Amino acid sequence: MKAVIIKNHGGPENLVIEEVPEPVPKDNEVIVKIHSAALNHLDIWVRKGAGGRKIDLPHVPGSDGAGTIIEKGSKTLGVKIDDKVIIYPGLSCGICSQCVQGFHSQCVSFGIIGMSCNGTFAEKVAVPFENVFPKPDHLDFNEAAALTLTTLTAWRMLFSRAWLKPGDIVLIHGIGGGVATSCLQLAKLAGAAAIVTSSSDEKIEKAKKIGADFGINYKKESDISEIILQITNGKGVDIIADSVGAATWPVNFKVAAKGARIVLCGVTTGAEAQTNLQNLYWNQMNIFGSTLGSRSELKDMLKAVYTSKLKPLIDSVETFKNIVTATEKMERAEQFGKIVIAL
Ligand SMILES: [Zn+2]
Repeated sequence: MKAVIIKNHGGPENLVIEEVPEPVPKDNEVIVKIHSAALNHLDIWVRKGAGGRKIDLPHVPGSDGAGTIIEKGSKTLGVKIDDKVIIYPGLSCGICSQCVQGFHSQCVSFGIIGMSCNGTFAEKVAVPFENVFPKPDHLDFNEAAALTLTTLTAWRMLFSRAWLKPGDIVLIHGIGGGVATSCLQLAKLAGAAAIVTSSSDEKIEKAKKIGADFGINYKKESDISEIILQITNGKGVDIIADSVGAATWPVNFKVAAKGARIVLCGVTTGAEAQTNLQNLYWNQMNIFGSTLGSRSELKDMLKAVYTSKLKPLIDSVETFKNIVTATEKMERAEQFGKIVIAL
């Protein structure tokens, strides 16, 4: 079968498509024929071997995928051949105290498909049967592939970590990426107000079309915190969804309301940042880190997706052979929503 292979850590040119051996299912695994896969920032870290992600090479990246079960091991339950599925990318041991409590993304040996093992940028992938869930009927395979990683990450950030309530004001930094656009969709679904930031007027206009209440172009403003305080009558925002890191972190402590929840799930601009500790304690802010989500959070998210008929935002659908140019587009942060690879 054909797969995208990382042969060496480095730039996008290290992604090559090659013939590789077919996956063979272990007892607890199913083989999913991938129809669509979606790109994530995690793929970039994995390819670069950055952030402690040096991995054994060659390696097949890709954490999001949707497809059809074509083979299954002898100890699989509740799955059958021809099931149309999405893949939950979290890997957990199932027996540590975190797993037993259902906190799978806090497992002591937590991993992600496409990082800890071969991933979805291939015609077929072997995954544990517990990692496949029914594809929502109202989504085609491209939409289904775009759903899982970022919508689940946004779900855990907003609801499990930051206990979002209707009427909250949510600030979403860097609208355009998958997690940011998912945060916007979910915040609006839950009845919150949303302020988004971007360096692109075009992205802000697109965000307003899907419900953003205010958009701020940080390239054109000398101090976005002043504008955010004006918009909120001096109160500040209740929740900040941050996947940007170093560039936005200091702003958070100027614009967070008393008792606000600041949730970080990524550091695309760097991992070291300044924190105003005085504002943190005096305004009784809460800081959370968040990674992916558990199986039960995925089920809760899917219930909401089924009920609301929510569709993930897709920037573009590329063919398998265009994986390098698609990746380069994501690295330039030119996308609005998910970039999907159709196989
Ligand atoms: Zn565990």
